[in-house]
Amino acid sequence: MLYDVAVVGSGFSAIAVTINLLHLLPASTSIAVVGDDPGFGRGTAYRTEFYVHRLNVPAGRMSVVPEKPDDFVEWLEEHMKQVSADGFASRGDYGLYLRDRLASLLRGHERRARVDFVKAKATNCTQCSKAELVFHLDNGDELSARNVVLCLGIGNADLPLAAGKIEAVERRIVRNPWRLSWLSKVGPSETICILGSGLTMIDQVLALRVHGHRGLIRVLSRRGLLPHAHPPADRRAPAVKPELGRSREISALLAGLRKQVRDGADWRGLMDGLRPVTQELWQQLTKEQRARFLRHGLAWWNIHRHRIAPQISSRVDALKRDGIVTIHAGFLKTIREGPRGALVSYRERQSRQLRSFNADWIVNCTGMERAGVAHSPLLQQMQRRGLIAADELGLGLSVDTDSRVLGLQEEPQPGLYAVGALTAGQFWEITAVPDIRIQAKSVASAIAETLRV
Ligand SMILES: Cc1cc2nc3c(=O)[nH]c(=O)nc-3n(C[C@H](O)[C@H](O)[C@H](O)COP(=O)(O)OP(=O)(O)OC[C@H]3O[C@@H](n4cnc5c(N)ncnc54)[C@H](O)[C@@H]3O)c2cc1C
Repeated sequence: MLYDVAVVGSGFSAIAVTINLLHLLPASTSIAVVGDDPGFGRGTAYRTEFYVHRLNVPAGRMSVVPEKPDDFVEWLEEHMKQVSADGFASRGDYGLYLRDRLASLLRGHERRARVDFVKAKATNCTQCSKAELVFHLDNGDELSARNVVLCLGIGNADLPLAAGKIEAVERRIVRNPWRLSWLSKVGPSETICILGSGLTMIDQVLALRVHGHRGLIRVLSRRGLLPHAHPPADRRAPAVKPELGRSREISALLAGLRKQVRDGADWRGLMDGLRPVTQELWQQLTKEQRARFLRHGLAWWNIHRHRIAPQISSRVDALKRDGIVTIHAGFLKTIREGPRGALVSYRERQSRQLRSFNADWIVNCTGMERAGVAHSPLLQQMQRRGLIAADELGLGLSVDTDSRVLGLQEEPQPGLYAVGALTAGQFWEITAVPDIRIQAKSVASAIAETLRV
């Protein structure tokens, strides 16, 4: 069947695009949503069943529709959840909210576009004509569409170690911790080594504890930096407008912001003040400036910008105080079979000394920023056909400021869009709901515009 729109993916980006399309498209049009995720609309982030997995954005900023900012808070009230607009709901509840909002739109189907949900993985894509793309699915079917929105997420980064430096311990390595089945294989007193000290690490530590793990958790990352916490609601400072000056050199921007903090601005308020201008600021940087930011500023940006709920931070602090979680800053050198499990060796950041420890499990929580297109066979195949191009810093796809996917000659591919973190090369901050929901709406509006003709 030829659809007017195919949304490929089944996480938040896909659901946000679909909800907006349902609001905007006439009843005569058709949408296919192709996703391989059993919990459609939840993706990696919101299918968790652990109540300890909290949102890291206050509920009041998590509405899926930007023009109804209280939508999620109202859902929480309707469902008797004790979370206020400035509180942090569970991510599982957020997944249920998304599912409810989509379901209520689908109930009014006679007034809305037709939607077919296709549970499959898109494995291949060909261009039938300038105005039609054909997706080949892993269930053997094919699906054609005039407009396509790629909402594939960005997968997991690879282990930060060449294959030759990992010896005979493959069975001890958890490469994708989002497949939570690994937790049930872990013995209660086994030692865990988590590579990476960001939000994914925090999630895995909490999940391990809920699963009854009581052994040591050694966290190794290059700088040993952990995400900062949001303060309790009654101590939150209002957003502060950043004074950015004229220079776009990263060092000059940073010096200006540091001065504002020295002059009394609350740093969290300043980070919140940067939020509305971050995408514009990123677009003003040259390729070299962006690369410099990624090399030197990324780890610092992440811990200040993507903060965790105060109650989660207290739990992690307590585990650190009790010696259950230890943080090691250094460069991973090798992982070898040792006398007691795997022997993890690293060069300590401060002393430059070679250190090592034993671990029964090694869990890759090194993040997603650099996953590029390598994680997706579909994107690799589309790249080979010249339908898409990787962005110049390897953050995802090359897209223009309207989220239209650019081909090899940097020309927009007719009717082909991307939404979500895949577009980080153009927008940088496009991983969280408050940013993606705006992008989803503008892509849906652009498609609706062409279908009204
Ligand atoms: C653990 C975690 C917690 C987070 N917490 C928050 C938070 O509190 N607040 C916030 O604002 N943001 C949060 N985020 C950011 C989060 O990335 C976004 O909110 C959002 O979930 C991203 O959705 P997505 O659809 O772009 O990607 P994903 O959620 O990764 O979904 C992509 C989907 O596409 C499917 N897919 C991939 N390839 C194919 C294919 N070839 N064919 C078919 N389907 C395919 C995948 O199976 C997957 O289901 C969190 C992220 C993570 C990982």
